[in-house]
Amino acid sequence: MGALTAVEYLSNYMDKKLINEFEMLLGKDRVLSETEELLCYSYDATSKDFMPDAVVFPLNAEEISKIVKLCLKYNTPVVGRGSGSGFSGGSLPLKGGVVVSFTKMNRILELDEENMFVTVEPGIINGDLKYYLSEKGYFYPPDPASYEFSTIGGNVAECSGGPAAVKYGVTKDYIAALEVITGEGEIIDTGSKTVKNVSGYNLTQLFTGSEGTLGLFSKITLKILSKPEANSLILVSFDDINNGFNAAISLLKLRNRPSMLEFMDKSSIESVKGYFKSDIIKIDGNFLFIVESDGSREEVDKSIGEYEKILKEFSPIFLFVSGKDEDKKVIMDARKAISPSLRKYGDLKINNDIAVPINKIPGMLSFLEETSRKYDIPIINFGHFGDGNIHVNIMLDKNNAEMVRKGETAKYDILKKTVELGGSLSGEHGIGLEKKEFMKLKYGDYYMNVLKNIKKAFDPQNIINPGKIF
Ligand SMILES: Cc1cc2nc3c(=O)[nH]c(=O)nc-3n(C[C@H](O)[C@H](O)[C@H](O)COP(=O)(O)OP(=O)(O)OC[C@H]3O[C@@H](n4cnc5c(N)ncnc54)[C@H](O)[C@@H]3O)c2cc1C
Repeated sequence: MGALTAVEYLSNYMDKKLINEFEMLLGKDRVLSETEELLCYSYDATSKDFMPDAVVFPLNAEEISKIVKLCLKYNTPVVGRGSGSGFSGGSLPLKGGVVVSFTKMNRILELDEENMFVTVEPGIINGDLKYYLSEKGYFYPPDPASYEFSTIGGNVAECSGGPAAVKYGVTKDYIAALEVITGEGEIIDTGSKTVKNVSGYNLTQLFTGSEGTLGLFSKITLKILSKPEANSLILVSFDDINNGFNAAISLLKLRNRPSMLEFMDKSSIESVKGYFKSDIIKIDGNFLFIVESDGSREEVDKSIGEYEKILKEFSPIFLFVSGKDEDKKVIMDARKAISPSLRKYGDLKINNDIAVPINKIPGMLSFLEETSRKYDIPIINFGHFGDGNIHVNIMLDKNNAEMVRKGETAKYDILKKTVELGGSLSGEHGIGLEKKEFMKLKYGDYYMNVLKNIKKAFDPQNIINPGKIF
């Protein structure tokens, strides 16, 4: 499929009667339909944009149900939107229609301290929830790098993950129950506040990672943990990639595995060197890891000693240990800065968040180097070593058509190789618009039809976020 343009996919302009019905339902101040207002809801973190015909701001499940029923009546697409930080185009209204913004549904509804669950509305920002829980001594681990601005609803829809996944898992590991409005406007509750639940099919997990295509979440119940008392970090780099790889594998085998095991390749290291402002913390080498241990102070000190001893056996060229918050901030700010810093390598980025089995990471990294050489384009890699999730950044000059074409071919080669290595097309960003044409690399017709039939079961008229995944 060629590049999609907004004009190509603009809907036939929404029936004015539908906008009037929304205004009657929600009041004029919770319905937007002017072009300049709609523009703010037309883009996400991809470089694509599609104009909605209206944006609505519901306050509860009943209102969402009525919105969906009106959309059914007018056969109009309806697309959920959290903060619009998605990397796969999930919140883009590809075929126009109504964007349902969850920004006004951002309350914490219940903190159940006895059962260790928290129930929230979908529009709450991940970081706000983390902060609220932390003040009370609790911990919600999923930590996408976007945690300061992405919503829990968006996190559930994309099954977001982050550095903590290596020890704590990703969003799906924390969802106990969802209240969902289906494509028929029905309100369903998928789970319960229990760790065990085998009552029919596991719809909670089916909706998690469904990329906003099966229904809209209005309430989310999450498992929470007690907050770890302490954490310490090790920054370590290697010239020999195999040494680095073997050292990391050794850490993952430990009883108290790291709570973070992030890696950067040489180009990522070069790209953020300037962000390590401290005189003490220097980074260099071909392969760098940020290793964290968390738990009680005693556990952390013991683990960090153990990690340090193991890492030293693999001839690192630099090793820095710290339990100080200020050092962690410098290191994590630099880690978060990799993505924006890559602009120096090109003004167009093809961002792939592939995941491969951990023992295939060296093979994948060699393949990425070969691909970079083959097409003569920068390919820069960093990510979450402990879960095999590599952020592959193909950096291009957007005005160089030949280079962009090569970048697209490289993307195809990389996704094909990922599948050959037994990996996943997306570790955390989802398929959305960005990878839907590559689904056939992994899945045959039968499998794709099963997915389509599942969608039909919840959304027979295909109005919920149409045009994504398939
Ligand atoms: C700088 C940066 C760093 C990032 N780092 C990470 C990372 O480390 N890990 C990671 O996993 N992702 C990361 N992301 C991607 C993105 O932040 C996540 O996918 C996030 O979960 C999206 O949340 P959002 O609120 O912005 O959702 P949106 O982008 O608004 O929407 C994402 C999807 O969720 C659906 N949706 C939103 N709310 C609802 C709802 N209530 N009901 C049903 N569907 C809904 C939308 O329809 C869409 O399909 C990053 C993005 C940026 C820009």
